[in-house]
Amino acid sequence: MIIWGMDSDVKHISGAGLNHCETCERKRPFNVILQYRFAYLYYIFAWVTSKQYFLTCEVCQRGWKLNQKTVEANLEQNPIPFLHRYGWSFLVGLVALFVISTLIHG
Ligand SMILES: [Zn+2]
Repeated sequence: MIIWGMDSDVKHISGAGLNHCETCERKRPFNVILQYRFAYLYYIFAWVTSKQYFLTCEVCQRGWKLNQKTVEANLEQNPIPFLHRYGWSFLVGLVALFVISTLIHG
């Protein structure tokens, strides 16, 4: 049986100082966040299907989409956990090992 599914997560990237929030109608602290979705097989072999950065008001959580390239250019490290990005590579590795051992042992 193949176990698979989709999930999503939100990562706080950084504070973005005070900005005027149109929903709160006053100055609010804003944050840069990353919202991403990932799909997985057997909970381990995962890959990211979509991601979007937002500038959001800390109080009402409303805000704007940010340009992905601009945000990522300023990131020191990728905020998405390694397994969510490259879990699929373990599956590729396992298949490769299986193929190699089949070739060696006939
Ligand atoms: Zn607000």
